[in-house]
Amino acid sequence: MTSDPSICKRCALENPTCCRLEPGQEEFCFPLSEMEKNRIQDYQPNEGGFAVQENTEGFLHHILRLFPGEEERVRKLFPRRKFHFRLAVDSKGACRFLGAAGCRIPQELRPYYCRLFPFWVVGRSVSAFDAASCLARREAVHLLRMFEAFNTNAAQVRDLMGRLRLAWGLPPSSGMKPVKRSF
Ligand code: SF4
Ligand code: SF4
Repeated sequence: MTSDPSICKRCALENPTCCRLEPGQEEFCFPLSEMEKNRIQDYQPNEGGFAVQENTEGFLHHILRLFPGEEERVRKLFPRRKFHFRLAVDSKGACRFLGAAGCRIPQELRPYYCRLFPFWVVGRSVSAFDAASCLARREAVHLLRMFEAFNTNAAQVRDLMGRLRLAWGLPPSSGMKPVKRSF
């Protein structure tokens, strides 16, 4: 989410952060909607920074876990063997938009998933990913402390999730209960 520079800066000193992935894990990178991609391209035309990724079964399995109870919608959005866009990474797994001082894209233009992380929403329930490499997740004892660390709250996180869903043409809320809460 990176709205608190201090925690994310401290994280960057110890961890790969959420802007890097393990090389070979690109398939599981969260997809980028056309709208989010266009918004970044309008800001940084001709820079690139995007990759085309096949809708593999592994990718679908990963995404379906994030949208429980919405299998039909998700499979319609990502038909097997078709393709979607994602952020491109370098040979070490770093996002191409990651600079020496963090993300080079202004906060309000970043992909919704980047702005949401480490939070996620299913129905009305907000949770946090159990990401060991996220310093905020490791330091906070409960969700409220994590909200404080990022200067946010459940309503703002839900609003962002609604925007992410709308960017994919999904209704702003799934209306489903979460399968598993992290807190
Ligand atoms: S777009 Fe920015 S916030 Fe998102 S992964 Fe890349 S560097 Fe990180
Ligand atoms: S992993 Fe967590 S603490 Fe680290 S940069 Fe990302 S949101 Fe910030």
